[in-house]
Amino acid sequence: MSIILGILSLIAVIIASVAVTFLTGFELLHLSVFLIIPLGSLFIGYWGGYGYFKGLVLSNKYIAFKHFFVGFILSLLCIAAIKYTTYYFTCIDPENNTIIYSYNGDHISNYEAVGYGKLDFLNYNKYMIENTPISFVIKSLDFAEISHPMIGWLSVFIDFLGVISGFILAGLIQRKNPYCHDCKLYKKKKKLFIISKTEKDNFFNQLNDLTSQGKWETAYSMLSKYAFDKNVKNQEHLLCKLSYCKNCNISELNFELYELSYLKRIKKNPYYEHPITIDYKLTEKLLNKEKAALDTDKNTEFDEKFIDKVNESIKVSEEAKIHEKVKVEEKLETEEEIKL
Ligand SMILES: [Zn+2]
Repeated sequence: MSIILGILSLIAVIIASVAVTFLTGFELLHLSVFLIIPLGSLFIGYWGGYGYFKGLVLSNKYIAFKHFFVGFILSLLCIAAIKYTTYYFTCIDPENNTIIYSYNGDHISNYEAVGYGKLDFLNYNKYMIENTPISFVIKSLDFAEISHPMIGWLSVFIDFLGVISGFILAGLIQRKNPYCHDCKLYKKKKKLFIISKTEKDNFFNQLNDLTSQGKWETAYSMLSKYAFDKNVKNQEHLLCKLSYCKNCNISELNFELYELSYLKRIKKNPYYEHPITIDYKLTEKLLNKEKAALDTDKNTEFDEKFIDKVNESIKVSEEAKIHEKVKVEEKLETEEEIKL
């Protein structure tokens, strides 16, 4: 699956990149901001790698170093494919001897350049790198042009780094998906609620007390009071996310902190982490919040035992379903492998 999605993603990004060159005469791969931030190549790298890494997640493969190595090879292929496809459409406009991108013009390979010889794929690219002036646009009015082989090769190196960084970024973002190493499955996730940042300390103290004493019922009634309040969302807040593995019944609450940034915008603090391991019974209740809310009204011991039994049987039937699903997925995967 990862290979198929990876190839689709690469083809899409190659087509998009060549289409931009066709329409604007400019190569997306070489678009950079402030001279050294290779925005175009980062974009190409990210979307070129997205399919491959997404495919790994969908097929429940943990993203490891070897996958980043495959990503590196794919990004080299991606650059070569874009350069070759662009070359394939590079022609000379006979009227003013300039380069145009067309599928039925006078192809560049019919020409020669002094000191480079016949402009085949490699010679043409070498010629372009060493002779294309790089424009510096400052305040969109003043500009300067520099043409020097060394600067040309330096910009190629920056574009190359851009594509690779884009690929790695795509992998790192997908790698953030929580993974259960015991079951070799990506965990399921669900956004539960938000709380105001001012409530933070109080909230965690209370929750820690309840979880450490194993009071899941009370913890559930505490958590189920919260929702997605718009007023809270506009202020500094924490987003509570549940991640769980249905197969081995482990679950965890994760909290993301959203704080005011320098532009008075609410932004996620990338360094904040606050995982709390919770009992799977609480997870099941949180997942079936509406249903469970009705049941907790009758808070007698008998009912609790009854609910537990029902939950138990749901768990058993769900586990059976998962095993079924895993089997089907394994079968599909082997079928795919055979096809490949
Ligand atoms: Zn598991």
